Amino acid sequence: MTPPLIDIGANLTHDSFDRDRDAVLARARDAGVNRMIVTGASREHSPKALELARQHPGMLYATAGVHPHHAAEYTEECDAELRALHAHAEVVAVGECGLDYFRDFSPRPAQRRAFERQLQIAADLAAAGTPKPLFLHQRDAHDDFIAIMKDFEGRIGPAVVHCFTAGRRELFDCLDRDWHIGITGWLCDERRGRHLRELVPNIPAHRLMVETDAPYLLPRTLDPMPKDRRNEPAFLPHIVAELARDRGQTPEAVAAATTTTAAAFFGLD
Ligand SMILES: [Zn+2]
Repeated sequence: MTPPLIDIGANLTHDSFDRDRDAVLARARDAGVNRMIVTGASREHSPKALELARQHPGMLYATAGVHPHHAAEYTEECDAELRALHAHAEVVAVGECGLDYFRDFSPRPAQRRAFERQLQIAADLAAAGTPKPLFLHQRDAHDDFIAIMKDFEGRIGPAVVHCFTAGRRELFDCLDRDWHIGITGWLCDERRGRHLRELVPNIPAHRLMVETDAPYLLPRTLDPMPKDRRNEPAFLPHIVAELARDRGQTPEAVAAATTTTAAAFFGLD
């Protein structure tokens, strides 16, 4: 019996789940994924993530943040809205926030500003004695990312670099700073994930967590493939099996360790 899993990154407020969200949650539970962190990644979706978590206590938890793609929407009003969301216990992490210079959907100065504003929220929560961990996104922006995080060193709680896809230097920079690493089905992508297979054995068990990033990043080795190509939390055991193989561990050992790590990181009961 594989220990239950925690999917630390599921975009369950995405409209592709509107027609069958309850069935998706039931399939997750049947697959042994009994807790999920619903990613809040925009002004529109962060309140929805909280709402969803409130509807499923003990099963769903939320993050609240603004993804770098949406950084242009980060106004004073947005900052106040995020701070209000973080007053709720169901919101267990600050983010998704960070930098994405691969897509550049928002101008880079706006991305840096939105990232800093959210790190300030995390710093203020920590200073108030109610720290929350950070749920971070970084793509093709490693050096700026490291520099901005350095400005907040010692003032923020633990951090996870979710959907890690970068290389060896970036991985060791993160591990040297004691950050956690989130691994997705990117690992299963024979075109662009091969380097990750060699890197994942370097991640200590107490720094490793797993996620689907559903509905995105459908694992390309899934068989059979869902017709609509939509990823969902029920596919997390497939990612864990591949990750375990690459790490030379059993799926049971990876499941047990990542669940323990995620529960402690997000402060779940
Ligand atoms: Zn992301």
